[in-house]
Amino acid sequence: MARHSVTLVPGDGVGPEICDAAVRVIEATGVEFDWEVLQAGEAAIKEFGTPLPEPVLASIRKNKVALKGPITTPIGSGFRSVNVALRQELDLYALVRPVKAYKGARNLRDDLDFVIVRENTEDIYAGIEFEQGTADVKHLIDEISGLAKKKIRPDSGLSIKPISITGSERIVQFAFDYARKNNRRKVTAVHKANIMKHTDGLFLSVARMVAERNGDIDFEDRIVDNMCMQLVLRPREYDVLCCPNLYGDIISDLGAGMIGGLGLAPGANIGTNGAVFEATHGSAPKYAGLNKVNPMAVMLSGVLMLRHLDEVVAADALETAIADVIALGKNVTYDLKEKRDDPTSVGTSQVADAVVAQLKAGA
Ligand code: NAD
Repeated sequence: MARHSVTLVPGDGVGPEICDAAVRVIEATGVEFDWEVLQAGEAAIKEFGTPLPEPVLASIRKNKVALKGPITTPIGSGFRSVNVALRQELDLYALVRPVKAYKGARNLRDDLDFVIVRENTEDIYAGIEFEQGTADVKHLIDEISGLAKKKIRPDSGLSIKPISITGSERIVQFAFDYARKNNRRKVTAVHKANIMKHTDGLFLSVARMVAERNGDIDFEDRIVDNMCMQLVLRPREYDVLCCPNLYGDIISDLGAGMIGGLGLAPGANIGTNGAVFEATHGSAPKYAGLNKVNPMAVMLSGVLMLRHLDEVVAADALETAIADVIALGKNVTYDLKEKRDDPTSVGTSQVADAVVAQLKAGA
């Protein structure tokens, strides 16, 4: 069996403990790994003076696959989000977030199974912003007011929303390719094209064009506000949702809430220079080092990683073992209990023990 070289970025906050738990269960599948462990975030600032040192990027570029813990965005330090920077530096343009209900989790309903494909590099999320009161924003307001014949209040701040043909075409094509590879039948483009004609409208017209050359998979579109309501009322009608960056961000948390919270929401950032697998949640700093939070989101990200590495048997076995531990309801963290202060909830590392035991029982 081939060994896999994978970059491991434990991150900070609860990152190291949940990554430790995830690595244990991933290795318990029997697939062999050479983990290249590299620090980013707070630990890296102390050593390298930057939260995203070049060796981290070089390692991911070389291995093409990384498992990553969450990283705190230091407020007011001048450092931008490592998570956003990583996606931009490596051009990880697709963020895949499955929303799947596991029996025994605190699901909105038990038959949920759809996937959010979020564009990761552009939209109002691109970080092109102009601060209220600066000379730059004044210049832009004057310029735009002349061009658009619409008044922008002089005391405004501005965030720019770029959406390109290039960015839209590749994310929609990715959504179709993902659907085909994962036996999914339909792609739904999510937008607000009725209001933002030149950004979301462009995304939608590109999506329709891409759909024409992917006729083997169904295609439709939904306006984002309606999409949110539909997901709550009729989620079984949806399969792969292809979203521009901001809507994808918001719908991902809606999805996480529908399957019982962030503790069960995995993710994969995939692009031209590799793939980085990480939970949807952040570094939950108040729980750091307490052996308390749920490691299953990063474990399930590990399942996505195993599938990406074509280790399908191991991926299925690990997903089943995690699902069994959830269904049994005994060795789960506080967030999966009815009451958050349930004294029978276990810690992060005990969940890993239980998943390893379940894997062995199923082998
Ligand atoms: P968060 O996801 O870290 O935590 C919010 C709350 O969700 C926690 O207080 C906890 O109650 C719950 N929670 C999160 N993960 C959980 C888990 N595994 N098990 C059980 N409960 C869990 O969000 P935040 O507090 O907004 O962000 C904290 C830091 O993380 C910020 O600096 C933020 O920028 C960063 N962040 C990083 C990433 C990433 O690395 N990809 C993503 C989101 C936020």
